[in-house]
Amino acid sequence: MSRVAIVTGGTRGLGRAIALSLRDHGHRVAAVYRGHREAADSFQQETDIPVYAWDVSTLAACEKGVAQVERDLGAIDILVNNAGITRDAMLHRMTEQQWQEVMHTNLDSLFNMCRCVIQGMRERGYGRIVNISSINGRKGQVGQCNYAASKAGVLGFTRALALESAPKGITVNTVAPGYCETGMVQAVPAEVLKGIVAGIPVGRLGQPQDVAQLVSLLACDQAGFITGATFDVNGGQWMP
Ligand code: NDP
Repeated sequence: MSRVAIVTGGTRGLGRAIALSLRDHGHRVAAVYRGHREAADSFQQETDIPVYAWDVSTLAACEKGVAQVERDLGAIDILVNNAGITRDAMLHRMTEQQWQEVMHTNLDSLFNMCRCVIQGMRERGYGRIVNISSINGRKGQVGQCNYAASKAGVLGFTRALALESAPKGITVNTVAPGYCETGMVQAVPAEVLKGIVAGIPVGRLGQPQDVAQLVSLLACDQAGFITGATFDVNGGQWMP
């Protein structure tokens, strides 16, 4: 069945692939970005997927943005909380701003976006929410106390909301990608990246499609018995 989906951070990287995959599964998709207008415009031109600019770290912006998407496309059935950032530093050098920017964007955004859609999903008795965490939220990483804490928080949020929402036909799951070829990973120094790839048993970085296909599966009507789960998509790099 064709549903209405929002993908945050849906114009670049993993979110772009997720938006395309959901569209290819027949859904009407809205892709949210924050500030890279050029990337968003070319994404919209190439794909015909409408783009919306707002900051998911602010509740008021999410309320306004979600209301606009609902006016344009209809009530939201699928939400993919994918937008995320890094501001890496060892804790003894990390600034309060680096801490807060990451927590606001990666974790507050889940409250903000879910708060905007959950009531409608409950009333309609249907919803699919997929939250994007990270391998580094599962195992920790040097220089990423802020990022790892935010991404570990995604798991707890997911489980709590899954429990609250299960009786209402809403599923909530976490996908935790390993290192994938996107702008975020291209920022990692080449030597460090070489070492990372050497530690991935499948011998390569992930592709955005590796993550997107799983998200589309979790977002489909038939996935109603899968909830509160965490899916690692990391080429075998880390197994809990
Ligand atoms: P990119 O940096 O390639 O893209 C990030 C996207 O998020 C962009 O569309 C960006 O918008 C948007 N965004 C960032 N901040 C905000 C905000 N405050 N409000 C709205 N949109 C925002 O990221 P990736 O594709 O690499 O990562 C996607 C997700 O996957 C993140 O949550 C990341 O933590 C996670 N992840 C990624 C991994 C990887 O290897 N790439 C590994 C594990 C997890 P704009 O274009 O305007 O900047």
